[in-house]
Amino acid sequence: MRVVLVGAAGRMGVAIRAALQVWPQAKLVGAIDRLPSEQQGITTDLEAVLPAANVMIDFSSPQSTAKNLAAAARHGVAALVGTTGLGSEALAAVHAAAVKVPLIIAANTSLGVTLLQELVRAAAQALPADFDIEIIEGHHRHKKDAPSGTALALGRAAAAGRGQTLESTMAGDRRGESARQAGEIGFAVVRGGDIVGEHTVLFAGAGERVAISHQATDRAIFARGALQAASWLLGRAPGRYEMSEVIGLKLII
Ligand code: NAD
Repeated sequence: MRVVLVGAAGRMGVAIRAALQVWPQAKLVGAIDRLPSEQQGITTDLEAVLPAANVMIDFSSPQSTAKNLAAAARHGVAALVGTTGLGSEALAAVHAAAVKVPLIIAANTSLGVTLLQELVRAAAQALPADFDIEIIEGHHRHKKDAPSGTALALGRAAAAGRGQTLESTMAGDRRGESARQAGEIGFAVVRGGDIVGEHTVLFAGAGERVAISHQATDRAIFARGALQAASWLLGRAPGRYEMSEVIGLKLII
């Protein structure tokens, strides 16, 4: 696996470079960020390093992902995008790139969270509609987007389990005096300290509650999952794939 890493100087970039050093048969052929660093081997020109790569891993910013995906598609390089908070421009780029290369867009590359997502889908499908669904997430004080991309993905999985979309079920702003609406999916956000990532999906019924949780204590889990997904993409036909396919989860649930 020949990897180009975008966002190489960031928190995830550092974790992925560390994981790459012990990943079998993987080589970092380009480390890209906004500013060069001779000491860390980081450069700024993505187009210059893509010809040597067979997969691009992007943990940068929503503003840069659209352009990076277009460049990867032009060079026939598979893409694993971990960047969250992607807007309409990036999603259009995902659509266009998926015609040319295999790619995965994963708000959370942890294999544990991939499992959580499928468990949530199954629970939402199995439990009666009068179980209220609430998603509680916590992250470090520097995180910019809220709710987290993972919380939104969990919300989509819960809504899908009920045959709905998150757009039609996501609760609005709860400040003020309005009561909970039946069937809505609520989100609560905690930001502070160095929390790596915590997600709980609560199914609250009358007289019982089911909570499905995941706690990340080390960014290395996202890095290892990203590398597993990146290597899984190699040799696949163009198209958009899911993390659940990387671990074959859809086969068992
Ligand atoms: P960070 O701010 O520490 O790192 C981002 C890096 O990207 C920075 O070094 C920044 O300079 C670089 N960057 C931004 N725009 C760029 C551009 N146009 N060209 C080149 N480099 C650019 O953030 P982080 O904590 O490493 O997270 C990065 C992204 O990954 C965020 O969107 C975050 O939400 C997401 N994330 C995803 C997962 C997952 O499992 N998928 C896990 C953690 C974080």
